[in-house]
Amino acid sequence: MTETHEPFIGPSPVPGTEFAAACPTRRHSAALGGTRPHSETLRGAKPAPQRTSLGRNRHATLYNRRVRDPSQSSPEQRGAVYLETFGCQMNELDSELVRGQLVALGYRFVESVDEAQVILFNTCSVREQAENKAYSRIGLVGKRKRAGEQIVLGVIGCMAERDGVDMIRRHPQIDLLCGPGELDRLPQLLDNAVRTGAVDVADRVALQGNSTRRSSTLSAAEDNLELLDLSRAFDPDRAAAGGRSAYVRITRGCNKFCTYCVVPNTRGAEVHRPPDHIVEECRRLADHGVIEVTLLGQTVNHYLYVHGSAVTVDGRDAPQVGPGLASVRKGASAFAGQRVTTFADLLRRIHEEVPQILRLRFVTSYPRDFGDDILQVLADSPRICRYLHVPPQSGSDRILRMMNRGYSVGEYFEFIERARTFLPDVMISGDLIVGFPTETEEDFQATVLLLERVRFKNCFIFKYSPRPGTTAIERFVDDVAEVEKRRRNNELLATQSRISSEIHAGFVGRTVDAFIERQSVREQKQRRRAGMVQLGWEGRSEGPAEVAPTTMQLTGRTAGDLIVAVDVPANDAGSLLGRVVRVEVVGSSPLLLTGRLVDDVAPTPFPFVEGVLSR
Ligand code: SF4
Repeated sequence: MTETHEPFIGPSPVPGTEFAAACPTRRHSAALGGTRPHSETLRGAKPAPQRTSLGRNRHATLYNRRVRDPSQSSPEQRGAVYLETFGCQMNELDSELVRGQLVALGYRFVESVDEAQVILFNTCSVREQAENKAYSRIGLVGKRKRAGEQIVLGVIGCMAERDGVDMIRRHPQIDLLCGPGELDRLPQLLDNAVRTGAVDVADRVALQGNSTRRSSTLSAAEDNLELLDLSRAFDPDRAAAGGRSAYVRITRGCNKFCTYCVVPNTRGAEVHRPPDHIVEECRRLADHGVIEVTLLGQTVNHYLYVHGSAVTVDGRDAPQVGPGLASVRKGASAFAGQRVTTFADLLRRIHEEVPQILRLRFVTSYPRDFGDDILQVLADSPRICRYLHVPPQSGSDRILRMMNRGYSVGEYFEFIERARTFLPDVMISGDLIVGFPTETEEDFQATVLLLERVRFKNCFIFKYSPRPGTTAIERFVDDVAEVEKRRRNNELLATQSRISSEIHAGFVGRTVDAFIERQSVREQKQRRRAGMVQLGWEGRSEGPAEVAPTTMQLTGRTAGDLIVAVDVPANDAGSLLGRVVRVEVVGSSPLLLTGRLVDDVAPTPFPFVEGVLSR
């Protein structure tokens, strides 16, 4: 089953969509016009789309109660930036940091591309559809520039890093390129483009920092990206779930080199942030009212920080290149005599030192790196969610070897059993790729068996498509026919749908705590159909008086990441956003639970956070 804002079943999220790889930190939205797919579409902040000249959804924002009138913003104003984000949660966080950086320098952000003098696309190269969408946007801006509009167009993120200056040659309307490893240089590039109209490529491009950083601990220690994270200006008005939910990066890049994945080449070597920085960031977010933090890393559970091995000139810990796999496998013995912070240590520290965070999550986990120490911390820590996203990718050992995943199916099953022994109530989700080169029916049936045996609560299922910049595209022929990929995709989706139905049905009659994130998709559709423009959470509308709703359907997530829909009085909806509520489950489907509010705020064993909840 694929998952967008609410998971849905179909051959792929959008007919014809192909996914190359399961980007570990993504919940890629397949929503059309999917700008900021996670925080706005997935998390649902933006109902009532209207098409703009770029085909982007323009919305009366749900959380931001101001209704923006484009006529209020003069197109002549300098420094108006439109930033559109494609791809994973890591990209979303990057965009948040870019935004904070540019706002601090005096740039102003606008919701409509038509109002902007600077247009930035934060791109993703994991999924073909996201790439096509970005190129289509670039083409439309190019038309406007050729027609004489003064616009600075920048492409940032993984596509910029992967395609490099070739992209500028093919799309000369692009004024600047900036890879994810060079985002700290974006203001300078922008300044070059805006003030000086730089023509030299060297003044317009910041790329390939990752390849130099890959081999050098020192350059990682000097990593200016860390300053970006540290200077984060959290904006509750733009954050998910009414400003109560936020991402915190703990590692950047990846050292795994799965053959279908471009991430190690676009985001570079795995760099681990100092634990003090991470804990401090969580604390600051909590001070801003955040009660749910999701720790981000391409392989988040691979986190391991060796103190003293990367220090600044004044002796403070700095980001460091991640340790090799051999060290991680050996565990603490590989670092005898050294002080280390493991992922388990980090989780425990955040749980203990920032108790205002009621829900601590992390994505995405790598099966091979899951030690008992991590599972034990989860078992001991009630505010760490019992939810693991651990992609197996295939149920065939032969295909796993071709993917360079580094574990066998047997080892994956061993991990699942171990996880369920430590955490009997844990919910697990996965990613699977069908139609990888040479995948036979036998390989595929092994994947079906894996699905049946593991019983994920949901699973992201992708049809393989070769992606530029990956090892697989160079080494393997994409030899599984499209029709066969589709059949396998559909079979897995049907199997997962049945399993998800069964898991959800087991919750009917139970009471769960749900963190309320947004209006449900059903609610948004109904309101769009009724021609209503949302003005806020009060249930007010500009639609006909007779259809003004008295109730509103909201969705939230359980600690196990199950989606729960609940109807509430429209007048109460705003106050429930970003709160943990208690819900009695009265129905279920393959996609979600439905329930009724038992109590507007769940009793919590942590009375000192009550003020936060009732704020
Ligand atoms: S290379 Fe890294 S980011 Fe890509 S799929 Fe493998 S583990 Fe995940």
